[in-house]
Amino acid sequence: MTPDLHTHTTASDGSLAPLALIERAADCGVTHLSITDHDTMAGYAGLPPPDELPLVLVPGIELSAVWRTTGVHVVGLGVDPADESLALRVIEQRERRLERARRIADRLARRGVAVPLGEILEEAGDGMVGRPNFAASLVRHGHVRDVAAAFRRYLGNGKAGDVRTEWPPMRDAVAWIRAAGGIPVLAHPARYGLTWQRLRALVHSFREAGGRAIEVVSGHQDALTTARLASIADDARLAASCGSDFHSPGRPWADLGRHAALPPGVRPVWELWA
Ligand code: AMP
Ligand code: MN
Ligand code: MN
Ligand code: MN
Repeated sequence: MTPDLHTHTTASDGSLAPLALIERAADCGVTHLSITDHDTMAGYAGLPPPDELPLVLVPGIELSAVWRTTGVHVVGLGVDPADESLALRVIEQRERRLERARRIADRLARRGVAVPLGEILEEAGDGMVGRPNFAASLVRHGHVRDVAAAFRRYLGNGKAGDVRTEWPPMRDAVAWIRAAGGIPVLAHPARYGLTWQRLRALVHSFREAGGRAIEVVSGHQDALTTARLASIADDARLAASCGSDFHSPGRPWADLGRHAALPPGVRPVWELWA
């Protein structure tokens, strides 16, 4: 079994359409795939029926939320794509993203960088608009050399385009996922810039809120981080998930299903739905 339970498509900030992602995942040997686009399940619309897919597709989503003052992401695995209350929450998240996009454009303009908001929204299309769309625009219009520089100078933590968004509290995101029949998973715990002590506090709150698993393996991650996350999952009696957080082809080591296997001793998240 080769699971990849965290990936993105053109429904959010990924570059492959859902079916192309599924085909690439199957070619990479992935047997169990979840498409977890930012704040949307639009990628699941219009797919062939499950028995015509080359792998097992686990319906998923990655919700933007906040814990204390830290922005966090909660993946939902096995959520019902037809769940109506989750669909309403998704509409609210889209409105938050649109409002944020306007504020990012304002803030960048005040810093002397005029970004064409109309063009950015058009490029995002039906997908959720996010900072990667701004990064692409900054590159396209010659303000920065590449996406990494766009985040470094304008969009990353503490920069002008890092505007405070009224994301819902983490406990709400967890509850919405559970109400839609899904398993809440704390995404990429090592990427919030928290000390290990604060991360333990976050994981504790996540569990208290009804969270069931954390991503012990997220993408290309060093072995020490994996071991620490395994120990945090074990202490909190949470299951372990794994995924590439794939956005686009081009980095072979970060391709679909290329992440390390879960370490021994943790409880794999798929045991919760088996
Ligand atoms: P948003 O959801 O709009 O806040 O945008 C966050 C997304 O931007 C993440 O999911 C990543 O895909 C992408 N991202 C964040 N930091 C960087 C970075 N330093 N370089 C490239 N992409 C990034
Ligand atoms: Mn992303
Ligand atoms: Mn994320
Ligand atoms: Mn992601």
